[in-house]
Amino acid sequence: MQGRLPRGVAGVLGTLLCMGLLSLLYGSSPAPRDVQETPALTTPRPRPPDLQLHHIFIAVKTTRAFHRSRLELLLDTWVSRAREQTFVFTDSLDEGLQKRLGSHLVVTNCSAEHSHPALSCKMAAEFDAFLASGLRWFCHVDDDNYVNPRALLGLLTAFPAARDVYVGRPSLNRPIRASEPQSHNRTRLVQFWFATGGAGFCINRRLALKMAPWASGPRFTDTSALIRLPDDCTVGYIVECKLGGRLQPSPLFHSHLETLQLLGAEQLLEQVTLSYGSLEGKLNVIRLQGPFSPEEDPSRFRSLHCLLYPDTPWCPRLVAR
Ligand code: UDP
Ligand code: MN
Repeated sequence: MQGRLPRGVAGVLGTLLCMGLLSLLYGSSPAPRDVQETPALTTPRPRPPDLQLHHIFIAVKTTRAFHRSRLELLLDTWVSRAREQTFVFTDSLDEGLQKRLGSHLVVTNCSAEHSHPALSCKMAAEFDAFLASGLRWFCHVDDDNYVNPRALLGLLTAFPAARDVYVGRPSLNRPIRASEPQSHNRTRLVQFWFATGGAGFCINRRLALKMAPWASGPRFTDTSALIRLPDDCTVGYIVECKLGGRLQPSPLFHSHLETLQLLGAEQLLEQVTLSYGSLEGKLNVIRLQGPFSPEEDPSRFRSLHCLLYPDTPWCPRLVAR
């Protein structure tokens, strides 16, 4: 689900606002229910070491049909700069991919369908693997995203460790509405912001642990089925409506549902995620001169990668920056 209102909820008018929206609208409400720890009276706790790339878990969602056409490009480009941190979640065994990724290829039992349950099943697998990893940040991306590990680290480093963080690009320019089943056949209308999955988003461990009662094991698909919305909406629902948290919007995440040509060459180097694909029936890619031609590099990811990481063995020497 990216940038569209699912048919099931379009048109439903909400009157009840969940806490996150109220805070967003009026700004004066207290901070999200972030449990403030009592300051230690004796020795202060040692500060955790500064954030590094190896503290970040990056989950890539893919499916059998895209192993060749999309995954290989990612492995050749950005994944090569974050190999230890990246885990690919798919639905089918693939020996070739297994050889390249080893234990970083996760073959889920999820079906290879583009249905809400199948996509939520993969998000659940990503979330559980993150919880088990013990790492500090969970970042989800699609298999048509370019992730700039340097920019990602720069963004996440800026968040104070004592805050719950859910950061990404809001899918819509307004909160989405959903109806939440209650007991006695009643429903409650809720509104919340969510980050579009197709642009990628990140959640810190502190928040992820609080999400577990709605998101771990089979509960993520249950929650998604309850509100009848796709996986990325479900994440927003849990954070904002169940926990009273808020999506932190960031303009550094991009899906192919926005006009990618609008990003200038200098800006491209600073984005956390980029994408390629179609928009209104036309090819939607970032605008970048060389070093590869659009025929050789239709997504422009190879060209971008050489600008960002010119020491990559397959990049032409002396790439002008
Ligand atoms: N995807 C999937 N199963 C499917 C179709 C797509 O897991 O049956 C994944 C795909 O690999 C990608 C994401 O879902 O990571 C979004 O798919 P796509 O880019 O094709 O569609 P969009 O929603 O961007 O139009
Ligand atoms: Mn896509």
